[in-house]
Amino acid sequence: MPSTKYIFVTGGVSSSLGKGIIAASLAKLLQSQGYSVTIQKLDPYINIDPGTLNPYEHGECYVTDDGAETDLDLGHYERFLNVPTSQANNVTTGKIYKSVIEKERKGDFLGKTVQVIPHITDEIKQRIQFLGNTGDYDIIITEIGGTVGDIESLPYIEALRQMKWDLGQFNVLAIHLTLIPYLSAAKELKTKPTQHSVKTLMESGVQADILVCRTEHEIGDNIKAKLARFCNVDKESVIQSIDASTIYDVPNLMLNEGLDKVVLKKLNLKSEKPNLDVWNGFLKRYKNPNSKIKIGLIGKYVELQDSYKSILESFIHAGAENEVEVKIISIHSEHITKENINSKLCSLNGVLVAPGFGERGIEGKILAIEYVRTNKIPFFGICLGMQMAVIEFARNVLNLKDSNSTEMNKNATHPVIDLMQSQKNIVNMGGTMRLGSWECELKELSNVRSIYDSKIIKERHRHRYEFNNDYLDQFESKGLIASGINSKTDLVEIVELNNHPWFIGVQFHPEYKSTVNNPHPLFISFVQAGLKHSKEN
Ligand code: GLN
Repeated sequence: MPSTKYIFVTGGVSSSLGKGIIAASLAKLLQSQGYSVTIQKLDPYINIDPGTLNPYEHGECYVTDDGAETDLDLGHYERFLNVPTSQANNVTTGKIYKSVIEKERKGDFLGKTVQVIPHITDEIKQRIQFLGNTGDYDIIITEIGGTVGDIESLPYIEALRQMKWDLGQFNVLAIHLTLIPYLSAAKELKTKPTQHSVKTLMESGVQADILVCRTEHEIGDNIKAKLARFCNVDKESVIQSIDASTIYDVPNLMLNEGLDKVVLKKLNLKSEKPNLDVWNGFLKRYKNPNSKIKIGLIGKYVELQDSYKSILESFIHAGAENEVEVKIISIHSEHITKENINSKLCSLNGVLVAPGFGERGIEGKILAIEYVRTNKIPFFGICLGMQMAVIEFARNVLNLKDSNSTEMNKNATHPVIDLMQSQKNIVNMGGTMRLGSWECELKELSNVRSIYDSKIIKERHRHRYEFNNDYLDQFESKGLIASGINSKTDLVEIVELNNHPWFIGVQFHPEYKSTVNNPHPLFISFVQAGLKHSKEN
């Protein structure tokens, strides 16, 4: 009798229905009834990981403690559950094929023909059950990326079919997320696309156990009964997922619909009233702010909603913590000029310069940093944003005019940001950055030391370039202090200005660690600085 239960979430009719949020919300409800739950994402693309994909293709690349470059849904999982994910939580077709082909080259298949079934599907099942076999979880929720009917998701659906068969009733559940479109001309909600999608799933041998129906309007009992009848599910297993004003409402919406109850019943597990006190406390603060501030987010992908996902969510957590509404003003770094900078930034209470790669838009970022440094507007630089703050200071305060990062100009006279020693002989682009969680020691009496209230911190990284220590004394003599250092390698992880209300640049990505239960201290403090600025100006 297997002790771990497996829940699969598939999607039909359309992409972008929010499978990740449904998976995370269900996990939250199960976790708050005492179950230990993790969520895994299976991505059907052939890249090994999204690390080499640009944000136009894929949105933000999320990084785990153990240095996996993953799908942004893992960020939602961590933000909802407050439990770290790992390499094992994101599997791609690229990873599956790579390991099967490596085994084939080693001769592990003993002369057999290597095929999608059973070799690829076995590898998929192993990756799913690996999490179950750790013994750490009662329930594994596996979200299958893409939409049923896609050629590339077929092996995953087949693995689900086999697991249902192998592990039997009460141990594996298939939740299918679909869309119920509303035709305004007919003033009607339509079930046919869902019926077809459930049938497509059945063609692969999988009967959906629960339907979660995304809709813009209440679907009502009649539609639920109709869907139940056509799709072989009981009526209580037809769950409405109505558009929500925030993703953080979805756990409560699913609770009201009884999703957790039917799931636990079908898995033959006890259900209790979930304890959502901390969650609801956060929601209450988030929805009832006492004041409002405006923060500029400067980056080169600002037109894309998903590129800075974790940063935007971190502001939601930190805003709620301070009972402040944080209005984010997205500013494209390529559109910033000396002439328009005042009009773009003068009404802001703080500016965050985003992470990034490559030369495009960096001069706009540097102009913005000069503006907030001299006008004493709170500044937060993350990764590339921190590096740009170092360059700005070198050019304008240290008077090292041709300062740059060697990422942008290999021949800069003053390479104040330079390729890390450990990166110098690397040829492959995928998975080779400095990744994952590293320790950092905070300087006594620094701002960050009091913000974190701790001497040693651990934060997640994703970069190749670093602060060039040859220039450290010059920077510190003029007031830009290296207040966080990796004591083993001497890498500068944090810089801060001491004669400014709030000016901090971090080489790491604090946004990956902010959760509903644990808003990140740097974001909390930055929002407080923004609030102070708004009151004084
Ligand atoms: N491009 C910079 C580097 O590789 C910054 C990376 C980032 O912002 N994540 O060091």
